Amino acid sequence: MKSFISSKAARFACAAGVGLAGILAVAAEEHHGPQQPWSKYTVHDMSRPVPPVVTPGTVSTPEKPGTAPSDAIVLFDGKDLSAWQSSGGGDPTFKVVDGAALSYGPKNLETKEKFGDVQVHLEWAEPVPAQGDSQGRGNSGVFLMGLFEVQVLDNFKNPTYPDGQCSAVYGQYPPQVNACRPPGEWQTYDIVFHTPRYAEGKLVEPANVTVLHNGVLTQDHQRIEGPTGHMIVAKQPPSSFPAKGPLGLQFHGNPVRYRNIWVRPLEALDRQQHTGEVAAATEKPADSK
Ligand code: MG
Repeated sequence: MKSFISSKAARFACAAGVGLAGILAVAAEEHHGPQQPWSKYTVHDMSRPVPPVVTPGTVSTPEKPGTAPSDAIVLFDGKDLSAWQSSGGGDPTFKVVDGAALSYGPKNLETKEKFGDVQVHLEWAEPVPAQGDSQGRGNSGVFLMGLFEVQVLDNFKNPTYPDGQCSAVYGQYPPQVNACRPPGEWQTYDIVFHTPRYAEGKLVEPANVTVLHNGVLTQDHQRIEGPTGHMIVAKQPPSSFPAKGPLGLQFHGNPVRYRNIWVRPLEALDRQQHTGEVAAATEKPADSK
């Protein structure tokens, strides 16, 4: 790899009697390459935005949930459900028990805030002892935009139909592998979701999702065929679509516990760092990218 401040630049700067600022200026000039056709910058352009510093969170242990990165929106830290409501509105029916949000009916849970492209981290534990089988064992789910379910299910030694097992895009795509931990152990989802893109009322790019289950890739930038559901063939909505929707957690009759839930909206950083656009992306419609 080429040294950032080349010996040629340093020799030139020393000979010219300039200081560190001068050396950096010379080095920066040397690193101006050809124009990138996909951005407004040249290759190695020193004038493009410096990525903002984010302090990473801490990793969870079985006994103690970790913390969120410094730029995340914390949705649940074990204390209360003030960021949430019942699906469609009203106080949550989910309960906070011993620092966890317990899936409790009759309503699903959803965030008050709505999100578009988003990184999601959450952790859950399946009920002990395991009860029921197939779809009846530890069923819950993560709803992206309130419409697309990434299944939560206790599939540790519990077979079910593959497109409905844990980490499936429900009813559409099974996970690549089964990365379930035994019931009672805390498990993680790290999800990256992109909304469908519409232009002039027509779908130009379906939604997609990447899922890491307990650190194992289970969905790889997977296209989503439309809102998920039981015994339906999903269809893409034929015309425009909401730019954002809530993050939801399903009540399916089983006391699944959740902890350490945070999100990072993605649109603004993606545009700013990759193309040079500077935009308040959270205000942009879904088809603006
Ligand atoms: Mg479910």
